[in-house]
Amino acid sequence: MDSVRVRFAPSPTGHLHVGGARTALFNWLFARQHQGTFVLRIEDTDLARSTTESVDGILEGMRFLGLDWDEGPEKGGSYGPYFQSQRLTLYRRYADQLRRDGWAYECFCTSEELEAMREEARKNKEDPKYDGRCRRLTAAEREERRDQGRTSVLRFKTNYDGSTILDDAIRGRVSFDNRQLDDFVVQKTNGMPTYNFAVVIDDALMEISHVIRGEDHISNTPKQIQIYGALGFTVPDFAHIPMILGPDKSRLSKRHGATSVTQFREEGYIPEALVNYLALLGWGYDDSQTVFSVSELIDKFSLERVSKNPAVFDLQKLEWLNGVYIRDLDLETLYERALPFFVKAGFAERRPSQEEKKKIQAVLASLQSRIRRLDEIPQAASYFFGDIAEYDAKAVRKVLLKEGTAEILEYVAGELAALPGFEEEDLKPVFAQAMEEFDCKLGKIMQPVRVAVTGTTSSPSMYEVLPVLGRDEAVRRLRKAQQIISQRWEAEQT
Ligand code: GLU
Repeated sequence: MDSVRVRFAPSPTGHLHVGGARTALFNWLFARQHQGTFVLRIEDTDLARSTTESVDGILEGMRFLGLDWDEGPEKGGSYGPYFQSQRLTLYRRYADQLRRDGWAYECFCTSEELEAMREEARKNKEDPKYDGRCRRLTAAEREERRDQGRTSVLRFKTNYDGSTILDDAIRGRVSFDNRQLDDFVVQKTNGMPTYNFAVVIDDALMEISHVIRGEDHISNTPKQIQIYGALGFTVPDFAHIPMILGPDKSRLSKRHGATSVTQFREEGYIPEALVNYLALLGWGYDDSQTVFSVSELIDKFSLERVSKNPAVFDLQKLEWLNGVYIRDLDLETLYERALPFFVKAGFAERRPSQEEKKKIQAVLASLQSRIRRLDEIPQAASYFFGDIAEYDAKAVRKVLLKEGTAEILEYVAGELAALPGFEEEDLKPVFAQAMEEFDCKLGKIMQPVRVAVTGTTSSPSMYEVLPVLGRDEAVRRLRKAQQIISQRWEAEQT
């Protein structure tokens, strides 16, 4: 294969959402697999809707996912500029060329005229298309309209003969009947290029070898192919990726929950899991494999294995994958990823001391196998960082208020208070003795202790929780639980 140059070309009018991120990922994987170049181009010709916040958000989302670009914003490159708004002279030059060569003409139709045309088409149950009336203007008529100060757009002289064939790497051979097209606008009244025009100039001048993008653009492709022809540019290869649907099979949107990379990040998804999951939206290697590392994806990805059918976004699967990746992280990386969630919950400073860090890591080690998302941390870890906010009522009733529990807690509190060390190996003998003392199974001792120190019946092992809390705090909570028990008993007497 000649050298591969692919691009991701977002319009900065909102967040980087799942669909865009997946398009970026497929391009990136393709580039990395072929030792090619991944270009990031910002399509910001819609001045009213494009914002710098959106550009920043997109770049941040890409960085979060690890999709580094070889050319583009902040990086530069020899095919720049990489913002369409900085390429306007180029578009003008090619618009002039189209007009000069008789491939485009000025259209003076007003919006009222165009609306009437559309209305007429609707009445006749036809597609609302431009009827080409300005194509037929004589030079004198055009002159006259210019003299009247009428503004114009530039329309492409579409070829209506035959059909345009697209050999799509994913969809296969697609044939478009050229009569379905119309003379579409390439340059607006304000001199700005339309998407279909600018994208061709840029892809051609940036020597893009493969255009990999969402299937929503497939109907634009025959128009673009005609422009390539008119300007004498080589047509790149195309691959149109299937759409992403929500569980109700309608196109994925905000209604279905989080859709932007930023949102997923805030909800505690980690990039490895997101990248893995995005890759599975429309692509698969074989049915048996779900978990792919990035290097495996680079190795195994291929456009041939991208499905023609829409992909359904399955949040549960993403959550499950996230849990798999969280369990797999080494403690230092998990700590880095999770720290912002501790900070947000008020459990840690932005720059924790060594001691704080040790505690957070110990908490994480105990929670690592129990959480699927990092944003579960505030709730799952709250009892490590402050008093129990609320005891689970059922746990109190079923465990603490059971006959004999007060004695068990009394015993354990007394033994723990006297321990010189407070690590697992120090704690184990205390619980072993307690089993003998009360002639019962370990659970009968552990469960009340668990409720006393965490407020719930489900938590990591006490051998992990108690050392993190430390002796004084552990004993204080056991005593407090004893108080709760006696208060409840008294309340029931009266
Ligand atoms: N700016 C277009 C979009 O965001 C790019 C489409 C394309 O890749 O050609 O949809």
